[in-house]
Amino acid sequence: MGLLSFKGGVHPPEKKTLSEDVPLSRAPLPGKVFVFLANHAGVPAKPIVQPGDDVKTGQKIAEAAGFISANLHSPVTGKVVEISKMYHPVLGKPQDAIVIEKTSDDDWELLEPAKSYEEFSRDEIIERIKEAGIVGLGGATFPTHVKLNPPKDKKIDVLIINGAECEPYLTVDYRLMLEMSEKIIRGIRALMKALGVEKAIIGIEDNKPKAIRRMKEAAGDGIEVRVLKTKYPQGAEKQLIYALTKRIVPSGGLPMDVGVVVQNVGTAFAVYEAIELGKPLIERAVTVTGEGVKKPINIVARIGTLASELIELAGGMEANVDRVVFGGPMMGIAVPKIDIPVMKGTSGITVMTKEVVGERESFPCIRCGGCVKACPMYLQPFQLYLYTSNRLYDRAVDEGLMDCMECGSCSYVCPANIDLVKSFKLAKKVYRALKGGAKK
Ligand code: SF4
Ligand code: SF4
Repeated sequence: MGLLSFKGGVHPPEKKTLSEDVPLSRAPLPGKVFVFLANHAGVPAKPIVQPGDDVKTGQKIAEAAGFISANLHSPVTGKVVEISKMYHPVLGKPQDAIVIEKTSDDDWELLEPAKSYEEFSRDEIIERIKEAGIVGLGGATFPTHVKLNPPKDKKIDVLIINGAECEPYLTVDYRLMLEMSEKIIRGIRALMKALGVEKAIIGIEDNKPKAIRRMKEAAGDGIEVRVLKTKYPQGAEKQLIYALTKRIVPSGGLPMDVGVVVQNVGTAFAVYEAIELGKPLIERAVTVTGEGVKKPINIVARIGTLASELIELAGGMEANVDRVVFGGPMMGIAVPKIDIPVMKGTSGITVMTKEVVGERESFPCIRCGGCVKACPMYLQPFQLYLYTSNRLYDRAVDEGLMDCMECGSCSYVCPANIDLVKSFKLAKKVYRALKGGAKK
């Protein structure tokens, strides 16, 4: 039988060997942290501290400000210096961040009680996950407690755990699976209890045989490890669900529409820490990699640590750097500078050299159909591009623009080097703004 997979997709150079054998280490405590209020999908959190306040590590500093929002906690013990604007790597513009100066080593304020997930009720697990500010750590940063509370008419029967890590270069989920397998499994069991499901499936690509073995050894009753074909974007929710269950999430729909909730392995680990250790989400594992750093690493860093500090820990940058990307090269975002803080969704910092990026002069479309074959969402990217580049946004939307998940597979295969995904991202932004304006 063939490996589990989906239609379309691409296979870019994996580049995981740069960092896959580097065990997780811990970054020194940063002297100053910068915690964005918009650290998650949805409404930015509302600060509950002010300049001059002393805070402990783990103390709540901002509260969820809406249904889709999440709490924030202090990543260090120190003093709040200011709440000021700084460049936000995802939104691409200045946003409010709470700035805290470290004054001592960690003096913790943990969530209580901390005990085995078996001793918590379903509601208590969800409440703890909410209190701890846990969001999807695969990059989407959707608040986890919201996913665990689907409407009554959506019956969930399976939890899918994303261990695919299909994005080139990144190895942080791989290291977590190798080094924290038992703890991830406890986090998965807590999530299963919260959802009331008897079954969980962990999907891992076949380029990670050691992680597959380790997770199989740790799994136990009700948790199955399945091997996926190595292909990008295997870890995208809809593609993962299809590969593992053959269920198709409808256009505009959500995994819960087909009875599924998807969580990432890093999120499961954070759930374990929140429940059994009482730790709110104040740190995460990050891969700092690429040909542009001297010594790629997988490192646990406090939220709000500057990328520049982590790049230093990775030996610093080479001379021929072309760009620094928050995330991996396919779905990550190139940032204009490196004094930008790590956020809850920062799974990697990829430093790419000029040789790797290369020159990309683009030409008119030659109608080769390569982008159509590569699109995992069954779209016709060349057609969409025709509309978006001519600002025919309504027609692009009719052709499925909003179903585009911005995976970049079409741009990757295009022999004319057309940056299709860039055009789609911009068109979606403009369309949303136009529609928002129209409503007002
Ligand atoms: S059109 Fe969107 S979903 Fe399809 S390949 Fe391009 S970026 Fe990915
Ligand atoms: S891959 Fe590029 S050249 Fe080929 S059809 Fe698509 S847009 Fe045109």
